Amino acid sequence: MRPLVADIDLDALRHNYRLACACAPQSQSVAVIKANAYGHGAVACARALASEAPAFAVACLEEAITLREAGIQTPIVLLEGIFAADELPLVDQYGLWLAVHSRWQVQALKAFTPSAPIPVWLKVDSGMHRLGFAPDEAASVWRTLAAMPEVDALHLMSHFATADATDSRYFAQQMAILNGLATELDAPLCLANSPATLARPEAHGAWNRPGVMLYGSDPLETPNALTRQLKPVMTLRSEIIALREIAAGEPVGYGGRFRAPRRSRIAVVAAGYGDGYDRHAIDGTPVLVAGRRASLAGKVSMDMLTVDVTDNPEAAIGSEVVLWGRAQNGAVLSVDEVAHHCDTISYTLLTGMLPRVPRRYSGR
Ligand SMILES: *Cc1c(COP(=O)(O)O)cnc(C)c1O
Repeated sequence: MRPLVADIDLDALRHNYRLACACAPQSQSVAVIKANAYGHGAVACARALASEAPAFAVACLEEAITLREAGIQTPIVLLEGIFAADELPLVDQYGLWLAVHSRWQVQALKAFTPSAPIPVWLKVDSGMHRLGFAPDEAASVWRTLAAMPEVDALHLMSHFATADATDSRYFAQQMAILNGLATELDAPLCLANSPATLARPEAHGAWNRPGVMLYGSDPLETPNALTRQLKPVMTLRSEIIALREIAAGEPVGYGGRFRAPRRSRIAVVAAGYGDGYDRHAIDGTPVLVAGRRASLAGKVSMDMLTVDVTDNPEAAIGSEVVLWGRAQNGAVLSVDEVAHHCDTISYTLLTGMLPRVPRRYSGR
């Protein structure tokens, strides 16, 4: 069989979730498992966290139903609420919680009679300018929702644009708006994403919403003592399937982007953009060959990529290659570092892992 596999360490997932909880002992932490748990497999991740997470968050009804049909009974919040009014019967049937970010959603709720009141997180646009009510309309919408028998457990929700940044000015501006509303409405808050969970204790509310940190990625521009405790959950692992020596000056791969600066040993690895490995990876992108660093050499192909192992004499056909995660010898290559070489973020690499790559779970 093709040797490429995404090993998912569910013990590491639980470790990272507990770290999120320990960062914010006064808050409850929703485990964000949208987008198939950032590529890790939503059902497996939900099962692994079901005994400790009080709620899960997903992007849409379809993702919630997948979890319910797998037997997950934990509360699930839809981070963008409903996309159409006709979803409400299913929201009611599956016992989901709703974000409400637009007036039409309020109207749809009013026109619907649920079997039990629906927990609602009112989304305020405090500066992200994506979803949510403007701060000057939020109070009146809050009062409308609070008076509706269809609505339960009302919370104020918002999202930060720059919680990861070292410069905290814009974050502070968003926080000031939210603190004003929280005081005026005596509203319990749900604000913090991963970076705010890790680095902005003033944003911790009744609930936090950590996502990417659960999977071991460091979301902060400047790592801190907490982010260094995160453990990688996904290890993208493959093997060398061919090796060759080429003369100095010879090109490797499509377009000959890499040209050997000396006599070089080139390893061919079974992993490519057809699996989700980013084709934007530049020459020099790190990989671990038998637990030691080596460099991508040449453009990534659909099913293969090429690595310069001139300085890795132990490299042989069948050697372990880790594209990110933890090698058998314990060496770690963070998905954040790989993302940096692809001019992107860990989120796109993780969520971009295609179904073609088998997931193999370890841990409970
Ligand atoms: C995805 C998402 C989160 C989690 O963000 P991370 O940066 O992955 O922690 C939190 N809140 C909302 C509204 C989201 O869409």
